[in-house]
Amino acid sequence: MFGSGLAKGLAVTLRTMTRRSVTEHYPDVQPELPPRSRGVIGLFEENCTVCMLCARECPDWCIYIDSHKETVPPAAPGGRERSRNVLDRFAIDFALCMYCGICIEVCPFDALFWSPEFEYAETDIHELTHERDKLREWMWTVPEPPPLDEAAEEAKELAAARKAADKAAQAAEADRLAAHREHPPQATAEPSGEDSQGGAQ
Ligand code: SF4
Ligand code: SF4
Repeated sequence: MFGSGLAKGLAVTLRTMTRRSVTEHYPDVQPELPPRSRGVIGLFEENCTVCMLCARECPDWCIYIDSHKETVPPAAPGGRERSRNVLDRFAIDFALCMYCGICIEVCPFDALFWSPEFEYAETDIHELTHERDKLREWMWTVPEPPPLDEAAEEAKELAAARKAADKAAQAAEADRLAAHREHPPQATAEPSGEDSQGGAQ
């Protein structure tokens, strides 16, 4: 047991000693980071429903969310009023964040994303609390998701959207045919020979 541990330790030391050292010339040369590096977190506010899941699951308690409720009038006459959460504040304190990614993993509405940006060091620690506007700015630096595997199944959201679009197109076509049957277009009168002769004169 002890022997195998020692052998593994020696192997790691040997690998480290024989690895070619590489000097990064940062900041003159930007490092080549893996595309999904955990640099900073971007907030896509439109997707956030203020469910508070990210703030509750964050092990460092460094996500601050404030909200209030608003009553939305019914969509149709006779319907019920609904209440919805409106975001007042969303901030992440990157001085406390340990970049575990739990908030991004647990968000059920795809409102949080990793950006590889890492150059946001500050001389004042308070500046490391990024408010919603700044978190929104980071969204522009989030890389596109990798393309889907060709053999992958279509996302169920896309299939549902396509089905709804097909249904709407069929309903529109049916309406158009019904209107056509009710009010068939009037046949345009053939110009008489006299008229056409008169036009020629
Ligand atoms: S990455 Fe981890 S520590 Fe940082 S805000 Fe998200 S859950 Fe909290
Ligand atoms: S988990 Fe997602 S939707 Fe819920 S509050 Fe956090 S960011 Fe918003």
